[in-house]
Amino acid sequence: MFFNQTEFPEPSAELIFANGNVDRQSEKRTSDSLAIAMANPATRAIIFAKGRVMVQFGDGEPDPLFSLDAVAAFNPRHGAEVLLGYEEDVPIIAIPAKFDPEADADKLPDNIKAIDYRSLAIQGLLQPARMGEVAQGASLLAWHASHRFCSRCGRESAPADGGYKRICPNCDTQHFPRTDPVVIMLAVDGDRCLLGRSHHWNEGMYSALAGFVEPGETFEAAVRREISEEAGIQIGKVQYRANQPWPFPFSLMIGCFAEARSSKIVMDEKELSDCRWFSRKEVLVALDRPEEVDFFVPPKMAIAHHLINYWARYK
Ligand SMILES: [Zn+2]
Repeated sequence: MFFNQTEFPEPSAELIFANGNVDRQSEKRTSDSLAIAMANPATRAIIFAKGRVMVQFGDGEPDPLFSLDAVAAFNPRHGAEVLLGYEEDVPIIAIPAKFDPEADADKLPDNIKAIDYRSLAIQGLLQPARMGEVAQGASLLAWHASHRFCSRCGRESAPADGGYKRICPNCDTQHFPRTDPVVIMLAVDGDRCLLGRSHHWNEGMYSALAGFVEPGETFEAAVRREISEEAGIQIGKVQYRANQPWPFPFSLMIGCFAEARSSKIVMDEKELSDCRWFSRKEVLVALDRPEEVDFFVPPKMAIAHHLINYWARYK
């Protein structure tokens, strides 16, 4: 039948940042949705400060949801909140704070820690659904912070519809949050795969190649272009596998496998410091007994790990 080749839940559902659980009610957002939420004492807030999220530690699960009263201690930027959605009718918002987690570290109560998104994801401290909301809030807040001014007339615009829009008071132009598509792809040549490393990565880390999709380009075309440009490898078939919201700051990673039709690597030395073919056997050792090899692949939080792991174990 039509959907027989489709997995459900889809592979993306296993990935971190991909499983927000709030009911966004996007069709019901109005100009006063956020004000109504802010007036509701039941509303809960995720507090963002300089790339980190405040997390409360206590008897139960680590918890990033704060009451609006508790938010006050972190010097919130009122007017910059965004409405993520509702959890059983309780509004969940994201709020940026002026609190500086480094300079003001000694002001944090013992049971609260300010943790960066990447560490939260690697450590698996929060429920998967909460990580989806962290990604949603982080990306939306980053977009507002970097898109304050109207790109048409230059006047400062104002957030609207719970933070899913900005409207220019001068020319009425509406601006919508960005999601930047990035292809990340594992090129495969029979029993080996292509991994590379960027200059600034931790020593020894190798991963799938990646790059932004350009305007007017399909993701398949972007996969072929990026691998050709960075590694000089010609690609035939491209097979989509999974995608992952990536809040650094507002990307969507589109994970693919790419069929190599050539094998000689011509590396772009500006982009990469190394790029090599790795055998399935080597990759499996890196995944299962990393202490036995001199390279490592990205941690489970990254879609690159999912692609590499899926290919290496595929029978
Ligand atoms: Zn304008």
